[in-house]
Amino acid sequence: MPNPVTPAEIEAAIRNVADFPKPGIQFKDITPVLADARLFAGAIDLLTERFKPGTIDAVVGIDARGFIFAAAAAIKLQAGFVPVRKKGKLPYKTIEQDYALEYGTATVAMHVDALKPGARVLLIDDLLATGGTAAAAAALVKRLQARIVEVSFLIELKFLNGREKLKDYPVRSLVVY
Ligand code: AMP
Repeated sequence: MPNPVTPAEIEAAIRNVADFPKPGIQFKDITPVLADARLFAGAIDLLTERFKPGTIDAVVGIDARGFIFAAAAAIKLQAGFVPVRKKGKLPYKTIEQDYALEYGTATVAMHVDALKPGARVLLIDDLLATGGTAAAAAALVKRLQARIVEVSFLIELKFLNGREKLKDYPVRSLVVY
């Protein structure tokens, strides 16, 4: 078997893009991780290593980069995949949750029948910044009476204290800035 991928290798592949999408933001570009077969598979191995297949019922992924990791993790864990999308994108009946942005608010949505009560859920996004998006997604999971086993991120921007909004759940991130 090839050497397992380390978080340090993933960190080395993440590309920092200054002033995107607006001045003052340093965007963490994960596309070089995705483009490298070994690193992509290794990232999924790391995100799922705490769980045996069959112990998670659904991996919930957050629009849009979270889908990439959550879908692959779901296959690995023999779990279903459930998308949390930006408002207005899901075709069937939804539940919605607002959350605060720096200026104004945003809304995420999930199908009303996406999770069964008591379902064991792993919630995944690519990056934890202020935590507003993940906390809103977690609130949707709770409203369907499913149980969040862990909230996992590839990247955490620790200085933004996003974990504080996720205090009710175990939170794990692979690469911390
Ligand atoms: P937040 O709600 O502040 O935790 O923001 C998290 C969401 O915004 C995630 O879905 C990320 O994909 C995205 N995001 C926030 N900041 C960055 C960043 N510096 N680089 C890449 N994506 C980011």
